Amino acid sequence: MAITRRGLMLVLSSPSGAGKTTISRRLLDEERTLFMSVSATTRARRPGEVDGRDYFFVDPTEFNLMVNRGELLEHAKVFGNYYGTPRGPVEEALAAGRDVLFDIDWQGTQQLQDSAPRDLVSVFILPPSTRELERRLRARAQDSDEVVAARMAKAADEISHYPEYQYIILNDDIERSVAAVRSILAAERLKRERQVGLPDFVKGLREGSGDD
Ligand code: 5GP
Repeated sequence: MAITRRGLMLVLSSPSGAGKTTISRRLLDEERTLFMSVSATTRARRPGEVDGRDYFFVDPTEFNLMVNRGELLEHAKVFGNYYGTPRGPVEEALAAGRDVLFDIDWQGTQQLQDSAPRDLVSVFILPPSTRELERRLRARAQDSDEVVAARMAKAADEISHYPEYQYIILNDDIERSVAAVRSILAAERLKRERQVGLPDFVKGLREGSGDD
């Protein structure tokens, strides 16, 4: 008899520029059973972003409809735009024993913590310094100076939410950070309460041992 496992929800949060996107891409490459949750957002598409891959780009009316129809697992306003996690794909993946990766902010994480505390594994990624954070934000050069300044101001606020997360990673080395998240995943996957077939499996073992 096989032990089946319910999937887990791996949330990565950080201020923009802390390296979360790079870590997420590496995880998806290296963890074949990890599935990325694609959010819906009302923010404008940036150059290079693809609708349906990076985000589902929707207008505010459509976003509101999604909220009212209960189609979002969580949603929040971030930097003046709305973001939310479509419910369907996540629920399907979890039920099939696949793990889901979320790149969402602290507001969304709080909502998942309230609605699905057993499935949630939350990781906060800290940048090594304010200077490095600003350097990374400027290097991206996709946002205007105004947006960079606003994001720097928001970073301090975002960072203040680190105590709400289960795991904290200081991202001063991408290899080490990816390895750290993979260790967290490996340990969390083995948690007793996620292994739904365990009682039956152990029962079989105990009954089988009587034959020896
Ligand atoms: P960006 O516009 O740079 O792609 O994302 C801005 C912020 O919104 C990031 O901190 C990201 O984690 C957050 N975010 C992206 N999608 C979602 C979502 O579906 N829900 C919530 N709560 N935050 C999101």
